[in-house]
Amino acid sequence: MDVIVLTIFPEMVEPYFSYGMIRKAHEDGFIRVSAMNIRDYAQGKHRVTDDKPYGGGCGMVMKPEPLAAAIDSALQKSPGAKVVHMTPQGRPFNQAIAQELSLCDGLIFLCGRYEGIDERICQNYIDDEISIGDYVLTGGELGALVVADAVIRLIPGVLGGDDSAEKDSFAHGLLEHAQYTRPCEFDSMRVPDVLLSGNHALIDKWRLETSLIRTFLKRPDLLGIRSFSVEEKKILKNWYLKLEHIIQGDGQK
Ligand code: SAM
Repeated sequence: MDVIVLTIFPEMVEPYFSYGMIRKAHEDGFIRVSAMNIRDYAQGKHRVTDDKPYGGGCGMVMKPEPLAAAIDSALQKSPGAKVVHMTPQGRPFNQAIAQELSLCDGLIFLCGRYEGIDERICQNYIDDEISIGDYVLTGGELGALVVADAVIRLIPGVLGGDDSAEKDSFAHGLLEHAQYTRPCEFDSMRVPDVLLSGNHALIDKWRLETSLIRTFLKRPDLLGIRSFSVEEKKILKNWYLKLEHIIQGDGQK
């Protein structure tokens, strides 16, 4: 997959691609990541990329011509890529959208600055608009990196061929179970015995239960929008019975 970030600050974006899994995915040929400077597509001696808004008001707006030329050039490098405009007005980003974008041949992220980009670019050159949250940043670069990172790790093979993305939080509408590593005891807290048992059926059961508990405590909204497997229903009913028992016994101690 090609991942191209269109920005007036490529120096801000490029270092991120030089570390960790993204760098490895690039070196191993799963992705080709690059940043292109929108200013290189601006005309005139000063290569101006912004201008005053029609109708007055504060701030500047990114001019359409350099944006259109930069997008066209990126599309020549990666024909068939999806052009994604990073904007607080876009679809709120989540794991399902990351999954959807991971199936694209290429992604071209358009990063705005100032008051944003000329609306005619949104109408004619953009395939998708994504927001990374209901707040306003000074530019689209951080958002493009957030989305690119979440998407790239879902490309088969990038995480080393294992299924760790498959078990991550949100992959199945739940938060991931608790994780532990050595030492077995830290700050007088022991790793749960079940994880040392070597019994994989019991470990899977424990993981599913802690996953459900965490989601219930931290993100109950997620439980309301998902259906449950037979095993999950069994766990939830068991909790219900235990709680019922506690409530019935109220005041008897
Ligand atoms: N005036 C615009 C508005 O109110 O919708 C906000 C412009 S913002 C100051 C400048 C640029 O930052 C935007 O063009 C966009 O590329 C990026 N940006 C800001 N907040 C963002 C968010 N939540 N998600 C994605 N991109 C964002």
